[in-house]
Amino acid sequence: MNETRPPITRRRMLAATVAACAAPLIVPGNAVRAAAASGNRKRVLRVAHLTDIHVQPERGAGDGMAQCLDHVHDLDDPPQLILFGGDNIMDTFANTRQRGEVQWKLWHKMMQGHCRIPHKACIGNHDVWGWHKKHSQTTGKEPGWGKDWAIDELKLPGRYYSFDRSGWHFIVLDSTHPHPDEPDSYIACLDEQQHEWLAADLAEIPAQTPVLVLSHMPICSVTGPRPQDDSRYPQWQVSRSIMHVDARRVQKQFHKHGNVRLALSGHVHMIDRVRFMGTTYCCNGAVCGAWWKGDRPGCDEGYALIDLYDNGSFEIQYVAYNWRVRKV
Ligand SMILES: [Zn+2]
Repeated sequence: MNETRPPITRRRMLAATVAACAAPLIVPGNAVRAAAASGNRKRVLRVAHLTDIHVQPERGAGDGMAQCLDHVHDLDDPPQLILFGGDNIMDTFANTRQRGEVQWKLWHKMMQGHCRIPHKACIGNHDVWGWHKKHSQTTGKEPGWGKDWAIDELKLPGRYYSFDRSGWHFIVLDSTHPHPDEPDSYIACLDEQQHEWLAADLAEIPAQTPVLVLSHMPICSVTGPRPQDDSRYPQWQVSRSIMHVDARRVQKQFHKHGNVRLALSGHVHMIDRVRFMGTTYCCNGAVCGAWWKGDRPGCDEGYALIDLYDNGSFEIQYVAYNWRVRKV
């Protein structure tokens, strides 16, 4: 299967409409520089970004995850790296240990059978175990409670980390933090320790090294603001559980480094591209579409395919893997 640009459908038109606020579905990075270097630039890495798989036994989600991974592997020009963008399993935030074990077992079964490409992952809010204590039937003292279980299952070096590949620097962030007023909920931000680490990590990277950032929740996205029309004067509002509340502080760090080219996210199950202060922010849909239920306007079940070049430019496209929603 070589299909990376499925035919235009009504759903795809809606996806394009959402993305059109910022740019078409294929986005050349740093257009001026890329144009100057066209013909000279060399692709150094092809990356697939698979976010929000939400694997679970129901609705054929395991088969969907396998179909998506097979689609990635069967491309004529397959990627050399897969980035899993969080919400890898349906949910442990508000579910019991037993329910979580079923989901992680299915995750590993599909990974072992269908993923041969090197991969990295970040943690999504649904990968955190037990923060909703009532629904998860936890006290907070259980081994693995919080993010430790996901770190262990995904074999992460920590809840956030960085690595180098093919001349690019990759930064993987942990977006999910406790809501200050609601103990059973979360907000999108970095904690103070992570802010300091990010500043130190970027300070060590030479200015000419392009940087790609992966977070579960968007740092900057046109999918974040939602119109609130229940007041006399309707206005846009952004939920603190949708988009990073500390976006400006993070963006200042990106701008200070000067070469943070791409920031990838998921969480919203929508597709957009936003270029702001030198960084292109890409919210890359969802492998599960609408949590395996179909009918998510603007978001077919799919993944992003990203080409990274030696001059710091990139190209990105959203690829539907042609999942047929199963009736239950
Ligand atoms: Zn999420």
